[in-house]
Amino acid sequence: MKTADIYLYNKNIHKYPDLNMWMAFPGPESFALSSLGFLWMFKSIDEMKDVNIEYICSDTASTQYKIQELGLIGFSFTFDTDFLTIFSILEKYGIPLKSEERGEEVPLIFAGGPVVSANLLPYSDFFDFFIVGDGEDVNIKVVNICKENKDKSKSEILKLLSNLEGVYIPSQPAKKVKKLTKKLEECIYTPIISERAFFKNTFILEVARGCANRCGFCLASYLNLPLRFMHYEDVIKTIELGLEHTDKIALLGAQLSAHPQFNKICEHIYEKVKEGREIEMSVSSLRVDAITPEILKTLVATGQKNITLAIEAGSERLRKVINKHLEEHQIMQAVETAVEAGLKGFKFYGMIGLPTETQNDIDEMIALAKRIKEKYKGFNISFGFSTFVPKPHTPFQWFGRESTSVLENKATYLKKEMHKLGIEISVSSAKWDYWQAVLSRGDNTFGDFLIDVYRNGGKLGAFKSAAKKYNINSDYYALENYPYNKELPWDFIDIRPGKEFLIEESKRLVG
Ligand code: SF4
Repeated sequence: MKTADIYLYNKNIHKYPDLNMWMAFPGPESFALSSLGFLWMFKSIDEMKDVNIEYICSDTASTQYKIQELGLIGFSFTFDTDFLTIFSILEKYGIPLKSEERGEEVPLIFAGGPVVSANLLPYSDFFDFFIVGDGEDVNIKVVNICKENKDKSKSEILKLLSNLEGVYIPSQPAKKVKKLTKKLEECIYTPIISERAFFKNTFILEVARGCANRCGFCLASYLNLPLRFMHYEDVIKTIELGLEHTDKIALLGAQLSAHPQFNKICEHIYEKVKEGREIEMSVSSLRVDAITPEILKTLVATGQKNITLAIEAGSERLRKVINKHLEEHQIMQAVETAVEAGLKGFKFYGMIGLPTETQNDIDEMIALAKRIKEKYKGFNISFGFSTFVPKPHTPFQWFGRESTSVLENKATYLKKEMHKLGIEISVSSAKWDYWQAVLSRGDNTFGDFLIDVYRNGGKLGAFKSAAKKYNINSDYYALENYPYNKELPWDFIDIRPGKEFLIEESKRLVG
């Protein structure tokens, strides 16, 4: 039986709209309905009484509005390869890919999200403007400007938008753009609960934003500094709101467990379960130091059997290099605590190819896995690895990757040795990660190259042939080490703590 979506806000359907707009998600609707940031943004605009907003996804079959009826289209851009789906959505509605080819009959099109906040340059041919950083507040201002000036030309509206902090307009003379950092005054949550969502009927709420750990490779940390916590009372109130409508809740935050009252939040949920309330709770990956009996007790009571633990590197030496100060005895202690609490297993997450990594670091990862496996028989451990991708605005932005063949050899070795131990392991594709690195350190020469990749199917071969065709020296973007004094294409994006700090930090970590 099909159940209706639950809207946790007043969906005003009797509007007198001054502006119609689309918010576009570059993926299927099931993913959009599990995307906290996307849904929250949608809700904030949907609550405006004079704006009609409709969300569209890659699998949207029909729309309420036609292109000619729209004043604005906003895309969320979360993953480097999202451009492929964005292009297919634009073409589906007959919209030219390049902004300079779009006339006044096509609405203004913008993008926001972590990928473009870190480095929007590879995509500058395709969007009229970008929002850099936390978009919650500026989105409303953007919509208001578009609404109040809907009779003006696009270039006139862009001129007005250029006065907003956090808005970058590629067609206007180059200027610095400051990343927006929102002061979090309210706990954000998924305002639509849906059975069609990827995480079915799950109420997701944000408990913390950012991570103060500042691992050398981690864009999620540097892009979201400073670490911010939602107020305890607000978190509890929001959990209660979610529980009025569903039994499934997910707590979100890169450094969730650093919340000063995280134990108390877990305790609140645990008490409810003890009183007989059925709750399924999940959490985003936890830090080792969060593996406390109090937290695990709640996770087990709410149905979690396994959790993901990011240890990033196998040796203490390399963990120190990446700024993850985590000693082996802490990892063993976390496993011990988990076994005692009744968890069934851990999935460890790590990275290969990090700067300064040697064969010894890989062997130490295997040795660690062996020690855990031997000591805790019956406790299920598995490993997931990705390969290092240099990200702008991090201390490792100057470091190139190892060659794909070296990384593939490391992956094969790891798989073989882990299989010998009977441990399940997955490793991301080094070939795909290579192109992710190219995009991540790319610049404004990429426009035609990206279109060609898209036109030829968006697979690995398409990237390779398009790079050749458009003289994109992909090794330069993915593999080369850059000197610290090099001017980087994305330097104009002003993200604190800033380049000087990153240089010092990079030297301190890698030596
Ligand atoms: S602990 Fe995780 S989220 Fe925090 S900086 Fe390190 S990798 Fe990023």
